[in-house]
Amino acid sequence: MLDFEFNDEQRMLRDLARQFAEKEIKPQAEHFDTSGEYPWPILKKASQLGLMNLNIPEEYGGPGLDVLGECIVNEELAWGCSGVQTAMMLNSLASWPIILGGNEAQKSKYLGQWLMNEGKMSAYGLTEPNAGSDVAGIKTTAVKQGDRYILNGSKTWITNAPIADYFVIFAKTDPSARHRGMSVFILERGWKGLSTGKPIHKMGQHAAWTGEVFMEDVEVPEENLVGREGDGFMIAMKVFDRSRPSVGAAATGVARRAMEEAIRYANERHAFGRPIGHNQAVAFMIADMAMTIEAARLLVYKSAWLIDHGRPNVKEAAYAKAFAADVVMKSTTDAVQVFGGYGYSAEYPVEKLMRDAKIYQIYEGTSQIQRVIISRELLK
Ligand SMILES: Cc1cc2nc3c(=O)[nH]c(=O)nc-3n(C[C@H](O)[C@H](O)[C@H](O)COP(=O)(O)OP(=O)(O)OC[C@H]3O[C@@H](n4cnc5c(N)ncnc54)[C@H](O)[C@@H]3O)c2cc1C
Repeated sequence: MLDFEFNDEQRMLRDLARQFAEKEIKPQAEHFDTSGEYPWPILKKASQLGLMNLNIPEEYGGPGLDVLGECIVNEELAWGCSGVQTAMMLNSLASWPIILGGNEAQKSKYLGQWLMNEGKMSAYGLTEPNAGSDVAGIKTTAVKQGDRYILNGSKTWITNAPIADYFVIFAKTDPSARHRGMSVFILERGWKGLSTGKPIHKMGQHAAWTGEVFMEDVEVPEENLVGREGDGFMIAMKVFDRSRPSVGAAATGVARRAMEEAIRYANERHAFGRPIGHNQAVAFMIADMAMTIEAARLLVYKSAWLIDHGRPNVKEAAYAKAFAADVVMKSTTDAVQVFGGYGYSAEYPVEKLMRDAKIYQIYEGTSQIQRVIISRELLK
């Protein structure tokens, strides 16, 4: 049966996230975009309201939301500011390897005690300076010595790395094997040999700090290996099945915001004696935004629904992520066009939306990699 209605719980969740985005995120978005500050005050309020750590199971003190629930929240939060939303949601991304592959002790320590009770922040460290799309090409090594692993290597583009309390790090336990040699470890800030760089200055999403992680002979106790040696690649792929729908949802939220700004401006701004929205060329840009945003949301919901029902969603998660990323890029670019010269000014909101949009075609697997996945699934 198909049902396009939210249930009561989903409606309440959407309303809570929408109100939070309107009252707490949107008014502060420009400040955190321009000041270079990390949005701690927003994160603290979000945490108190239960809008962070959404995927942490109830037995560890979290709300245990399914992927669809996370998507509903992420669309709303990203509508307010996608940088803030990304900063908020990183704990979910870093929690997935522990939820999917961790043991009881790791779950109660890191998900329950750290994230839920102590309000800590985490980072997800997969990408390296010479390995992004080529996940299995990572070079960080983890060598077993007695009851510990010694980690050496570096990560880059790691969201929340400059402020994170703990790090979920992918490393090679068998460098001679490609994907079969990857494993996942939990590292804590303060451990000898672990350091992080300054936030990287980037085009958009300024509120989500991104940086490097350096590991020099970091001693990691063997109990911090998540799953077994060699499980890393499989865990990373399972995380993508759950994170890509959420990234698509966030892209949809930014696109929706761009459309709303464009509609408002198209009605207000007059040229040649009438609102600019009365010109078909402008009105059709808005029609395309509405149509493609709706399609992106449906792809997001379907890919989330599939994984929530224990069904494979590799292709559908790639559809949702790639399509929503292209929709947000086009919608924000067209919103700037609707605003004309004012759209190019940082004084108006659509300039930031366009800068924030670009990353959706890059992180969590680029748009090209999504098409590699889709075509591979179709041709196999
Ligand atoms: C702001 C930001 C935040 C990020 N946050 C995180 C994070 O928290 N954790 C994390 O681990 N990573 C994170 N990343 C890294 C991100 O996932 C990678 O940047 C991304 O996967 C692309 O990898 P790359 O930059 O090495 O590009 P490359 O892999 O070098 O790709 C360069 C270009 O080549 C194309 N290309 C590469 N291989 C192929 C192929 N086989 N077929 C077709 N085209 C191809 C790509 O699509 C791209 O256009 C973040 C990145 C950014 C910019």
